[in-house]
Amino acid sequence: MTPRPDCPGCGSTKLSALFRLPRQPVVLNYRFRNAEAASRVPRHDVTLRQCRGCGLVFNATFNPALIPYDENYENRQCFSPAFGAHLETLAKALTKRNGLRGGRILEVGCGKGDFLRLLCGVASAGGEGYDTSYEPRTEPEPPGLSFHPRYVSASDVTQPFDAVICRHVVEHVPEIGAFLRDLHAIAVAAGDPVVVLETPRFEWIVEQLSLWDVFYEHCNYFPTTTLAHLCRLAGFRVAHQRAVFGAQYQTLELKLARTSRRLVAPGIPAPARLASFARRARRHLDLLTRRFAKARDGRGWAVWGAGAKGVALVNLLRLKPACVVDSNPAKQGGMLPGTKVPIVAPEDARLARLGLIVIANPNYAAEIRAVLDQRGFTGRTLTL
Ligand SMILES: [Zn+2]
Repeated sequence: MTPRPDCPGCGSTKLSALFRLPRQPVVLNYRFRNAEAASRVPRHDVTLRQCRGCGLVFNATFNPALIPYDENYENRQCFSPAFGAHLETLAKALTKRNGLRGGRILEVGCGKGDFLRLLCGVASAGGEGYDTSYEPRTEPEPPGLSFHPRYVSASDVTQPFDAVICRHVVEHVPEIGAFLRDLHAIAVAAGDPVVVLETPRFEWIVEQLSLWDVFYEHCNYFPTTTLAHLCRLAGFRVAHQRAVFGAQYQTLELKLARTSRRLVAPGIPAPARLASFARRARRHLDLLTRRFAKARDGRGWAVWGAGAKGVALVNLLRLKPACVVDSNPAKQGGMLPGTKVPIVAPEDARLARLGLIVIANPNYAAEIRAVLDQRGFTGRTLTL
């Protein structure tokens, strides 16, 4: 596939050199029940480019048709207390700042619906959620809440809403400029609600040298100035933008812009340069590989976290861990996509014999160490 020659955000053709991660699994958050199916997951190159105009980092050979966002797509993080606390804080802050109490909330890309249920509960609000990976639950939804297992467009919005939520979606959308304009049309149809975006911050990935935060499912990586600029290009005004969840994510609150101004492209900020990230992150991965090799010669090692970071990390390494631990029951008993590595529960007896557990996400380090202490784990932990 020829790399696209233009930026999907601003349309500029002034792009940086290519940075290729060959043969990455196309799905990370997908349930596989047996090792054969998991290890045969389709693989494609991730070919990153950075726009010199707006600073967007994107996969120039991305093909969205390769990713099945169906009911086997599983990326809920709600089994972690640290993540639960982040969602709770966000729901309360959004309700208070934007007067959502008793209002109506629309979520674009609601996943299985966990955040919309939480927010509508906190705000005593009604809600509508749209997502192709939504799965109806056995228990009935709370009154005033409805879900649709499909995409949403402005023509679906026939009544006003007080908020439009779009969390962890923009990093998955190839035509991001057009998507933000669609979101603007939805906001117009909904009567100028607050529009809330949440997505990873590229600066955090660069700081941490976490090459395992680059994966096929994410076709876009946003420096903070880039996302604000693209939202303004789409006709929004940025009311708030802040780093959240240990600075891994950014949250933006948008309103419709009243006037159109000539916008100056932000370029590439120094802490978000793809070229230097690529160079330094590769060296960092080599260093880690040597440490894991030493652990293998001892009592063996595991990774804690079968989310995107854990799956991407294990796929980047030639040397595989004995197992991957995850507290999400829907993942336990399955296989890590792209590998034959089993996903086990924190209670699994194999953990006691290991010499090293690698914690894929630093935000969960405290709660993971507490669980390990409780279980009398005598090996070491390494937080990435
Ligand atoms: Zn651009």
